[in-house]
Amino acid sequence: MSKEIFVTKSSMPPMEEYISMIKPIWDSRWLTNMGKFHNELEKELCEYLDVEQVSLMVNGHMALELAIQVMDFPKGGEVITTPYTFVSTTHAILRNGLVPVFCDIKEDFTIDEEKIEALITEKTVAIVPVHVYGNICNVERIQEIASRYDLKVIYDAAHAFGESYQGRGIASFGDLSVFSFHATKVFHTIEGGAVCSSDRDVYERLYDLKNFGIRSEELVVSVGANAKMNEFAAAMGLCNLKYMESNIFKRKEIAELYEKKLAGCEEIVLNVHNPDVVSNYGYFPLLFSDEETRNKVYDRLKSRGIHTRKYFYPLTSDQVCFNDQYKDTKLDRAREYSKRILVLPIYPDLEEEVVVRVAEEIICLVSN
Ligand SMILES: *Cc1c(COP(=O)(O)O)cnc(C)c1O
Repeated sequence: MSKEIFVTKSSMPPMEEYISMIKPIWDSRWLTNMGKFHNELEKELCEYLDVEQVSLMVNGHMALELAIQVMDFPKGGEVITTPYTFVSTTHAILRNGLVPVFCDIKEDFTIDEEKIEALITEKTVAIVPVHVYGNICNVERIQEIASRYDLKVIYDAAHAFGESYQGRGIASFGDLSVFSFHATKVFHTIEGGAVCSSDRDVYERLYDLKNFGIRSEELVVSVGANAKMNEFAAAMGLCNLKYMESNIFKRKEIAELYEKKLAGCEEIVLNVHNPDVVSNYGYFPLLFSDEETRNKVYDRLKSRGIHTRKYFYPLTSDQVCFNDQYKDTKLDRAREYSKRILVLPIYPDLEEEVVVRVAEEIICLVSN
């Protein structure tokens, strides 16, 4: 039996490299609490991501929660966001005592900026868009709307690590941008995340929020959580960062091979690349003509040991945890796409032979 292929596979640095990096920790016994690796990784990420401030966090979700919390919005404030995302985005809004207001998406899976204004009320405090599959939101138009109505913009950039738009680091748009460094992401620290900003004051308030508000041995200045990144995670990040360029290049080759093999198949819609964006090729999404075909492809590939993902299905706003609260919200495209979407395996060392096999299997299934 051939081995199972999953939708992603965590990239690992050479083991010796990681081990020699973490060895000094046995002498120093400095395992966490803003140690050497933590501070080094913050510095290197500022450079890599082309942003002024990076605050490392224990994971992407806590980074999102604290990014929203640091804005100090009044409780009950409304946040315009997308339903076409991982549940974390919505949970972070709700767990801050705020109200998500869902806006439909465009053909590129990101929030439809032309539908945002109609959702703004006196209670609106922020927009939380998501750069889905690394497709960049319309950052200019969103900023224009936000400025006109005095709203904050916090990007969930979990899918957009290392990307740039018109030569500018993607996390430099909006008030804040949040990354996830989970094991399944293009860049990972096993578990981890970060909030990027251009404001030193925000960085310091985030520091308080991730470390109990402790400023010194005898001084606690505010009520904070614990969301610090530990030294083993930061060391993994420092090692992985060295291989980002080559990993993204390998992902690009895989994406191009899929595209070549699937091109011209009328029953499939491929993701469209924005020429202004330098992509990280983190995901390879496909839209099928209907749910039945999507499910048929998913089941068949699974039976061959190839695990694709219906990502994002069900649509986040329709998850049972929200008790049908949003079932009447008009989200036609998001609901439809979530039924037709399938994300194919993509990771740096995915074999060409598997890519070709997956593409051929798909073409064979949709043409019959
Ligand atoms: C992964 C992800 C998150 C959450 O990040 P974790 O590090 O897993 O907590 C949030 N939003 C999106 C869009 C994600 O893909």
